[in-house]
Amino acid sequence: MSFNEQNILIVDDDPVVLKSLKDLLAIRGMDADTAIGGREAIVCLDQKDYDLVLLDLQMPYVNGHDVMQHIRENNIEAYVIIVSGETSFEAARDACSQGAYNFLRKPYATDELMITIKNALKEKSLEKQNRLMNDQLRESERLHRYLVNTSPDIIYILDPDGKFTFINERIESLLGYSYKELIGKHYSMLVHQNDSEVARYVFNERRVGDRASRNVEIRLKCKDDNTPRFFETRTLPIELSSMGIYKNEDNPKKRTYLGTYGVARDITERKMAEETINFQAYHDLLTNLPNRALLRDRLSLAITQAKRNEEMLAILFLDLDRFKNINDSLGHVVGDELLQQVSTRLKSCVREGDTLARFGGDEFTLLLPNIAKGQEDVTKIAEKINHVLRDPFVIDGNELYVSASIGISIYPRDGANMDTLIKHADIAMYHIKDKGKNGYQFYSKDMTTPYFKNLSLDSGIRKALDNDEFHLMYQPQINIRTGEIVGVEALLRWDHPEHGPITPAEFISFAEETGMIVDIGKWVLRNACGELKRWRDAGLPEIRMSINMSARQLAEKSIVKDISSILKDYNIPGHCLEIEITENTIMSEMDTVIYKLKELSNRGIQVAIDDFGTGYSSLSYLHKLPIQTLKIDRAFMKELNMKNTGNSIINTIVAMAKGLNLNVIAEGVETQQQLDYLQEINCNEAQGFLFGKPLTADVITQILIQEPFAFTDSDSDRRGYPRTH
Ligand code: C2E
Ligand code: MG
Ligand code: MG
Repeated sequence: MSFNEQNILIVDDDPVVLKSLKDLLAIRGMDADTAIGGREAIVCLDQKDYDLVLLDLQMPYVNGHDVMQHIRENNIEAYVIIVSGETSFEAARDACSQGAYNFLRKPYATDELMITIKNALKEKSLEKQNRLMNDQLRESERLHRYLVNTSPDIIYILDPDGKFTFINERIESLLGYSYKELIGKHYSMLVHQNDSEVARYVFNERRVGDRASRNVEIRLKCKDDNTPRFFETRTLPIELSSMGIYKNEDNPKKRTYLGTYGVARDITERKMAEETINFQAYHDLLTNLPNRALLRDRLSLAITQAKRNEEMLAILFLDLDRFKNINDSLGHVVGDELLQQVSTRLKSCVREGDTLARFGGDEFTLLLPNIAKGQEDVTKIAEKINHVLRDPFVIDGNELYVSASIGISIYPRDGANMDTLIKHADIAMYHIKDKGKNGYQFYSKDMTTPYFKNLSLDSGIRKALDNDEFHLMYQPQINIRTGEIVGVEALLRWDHPEHGPITPAEFISFAEETGMIVDIGKWVLRNACGELKRWRDAGLPEIRMSINMSARQLAEKSIVKDISSILKDYNIPGHCLEIEITENTIMSEMDTVIYKLKELSNRGIQVAIDDFGTGYSSLSYLHKLPIQTLKIDRAFMKELNMKNTGNSIINTIVAMAKGLNLNVIAEGVETQQQLDYLQEINCNEAQGFLFGKPLTADVITQILIQEPFAFTDSDSDRRGYPRTH
């Protein structure tokens, strides 16, 4: 700031002095205001901010001392230079002790006066700048503090001994501690005892940059709630990233470790979502009973134990009689309610340690480990089950009667391994059904296997490729917002010469076990790409081709090369092909799978996680993978037909996927209600019977030609879908 921008006030009761001082300053480029006498000076000071006041002391009525007092009392920040006729030392001392910057005697030497004025203005200007800088600093610190304290994460600094020197206020709402009470305390007081080992590494992190700890999951303890009803210590799962802080950071020789800086993110919601998804992976959504996967898990454990302890165990395979009639005549809602009520009654028959599972449809399985008296114990339970189902079920005012046919196999008598035991219980069940239903039947060796269970897949599937018995169907995938077809999923069909059409559910796992899926998979890839090329060559709208790929196929060394060369042969750009894999495929051999997916992704090929939510789900692995799309399993679509869908798992998955910038497809969309909900929560794409069952390539061609008026009500296979352009 230059001198002529600063405001100067000259105060004197003598107009001659005023004028001469004003002129003196004007010659040097400084414009000053004047006040004749103390009273006018006070008026001026109250109206304008002055940097400097040249003040006479002896003035009538309001003298210089009064003006100084006014300046002090009103915290006016002007510097004051006394220019006075008073010559005594005391006068000078008094003036300075009242806060004057300097004291000059009249008559003054011009040079001395000018030097004093310039010094005062310079000092004043510096002081102003200083204050400005301080204000800015304080403001910036306030902003940082605000950012740190309102951050959703816990942010802290530890000293080299692991004690908190800083922690933001977020700790209060997350753990219940006040940040003040933690300063000086050791971090270990917050860590759950089972996580203390991991915590030691992260909290003592000395590394910086890429090598520092990132996203390590540990649990922190919440402060005990003082209300007597809550004694348990709650814990909070967090994801912790930390790094060392150093003095003389850039000079490795002089570098001294000052402590560790860290950010802890609350991941409770993610953990809860994972737990829910993992629960769903092993449970049936409708009845909350263990599902087939969990039953197999428990059964394999129970067989191992029975073998070791030379005990027996039993499997009861239970199928409701005439359930299909009820479902068909009264509808799915009543059918679902009936299954729920049946499962409640069945639960009342089982002991702790038994596993009652829903195998799908109207089939339940009961595992009874350790049956001491063998057949006698099991008979009692089977009779009890038949008994509890005897009373009618009342649903929507209807009285419904159901009975169950139960087939039973016993380890080790009827089989030494899981699959044999299940198969034999199943066969026994068909025998009781044949005999007129309602009752139970133990397996015996002379029972014949029902015809359709005997289907010889083995020899058949080997010839199927050569005999051209496979074909592909294509199911449309729709952009929910625009209603356009964005892709199709290729689904394999086997036309068995004797048994007719066989669905993938019946033969894929068999083809995987025998390794034949590798050749079949290549066939699928080639044919699907061939079809896509025909659509592209015909100038139809560009769509994506999704292809299912088993773990076994991805395990092939040459898989990346094979896919690339097929794409090249058909002149198809990478982004038009999507590979669908399941979570279990990823988990099977994480490292090599990730490597191969990256290779595919580098070639532009898209990767989707199929049946998401039904396998082992750890959402934290998602951001490590080069995937573009999550396909929400159709099992979750069912819950959208029930009440209270606000907190649906689908909602959680869609929100998470958005956070990770992934495309989400909902599978198995069958009703408008489901679609409305998906639209509401901003799910990107949908696939399901509402838009079309898997269709032949020719029908897809017709739809693509008709675009954008696809999906009219006229086609019975393809349900009407209102476009929402
Ligand atoms: P996926 O990949 O989850 O395929 C979707 C399945 O859901 C298809 O059964 C489809 O017909 C069915 N679906 C589609 N929309 C609806 C709906 O609205 N409601 C209901 N209830 N179901 C619907 P599909 O064709 O029987 O295939 C079953 C599974 O077999 C597929 O599940 C996939 O995992 C596997 N698969 C099919 N083709 C191939 C293939 O070429 N290679 C491999 N490795 N696996 C395949
Ligand atoms: Mg699929
Ligand atoms: Mg699927």
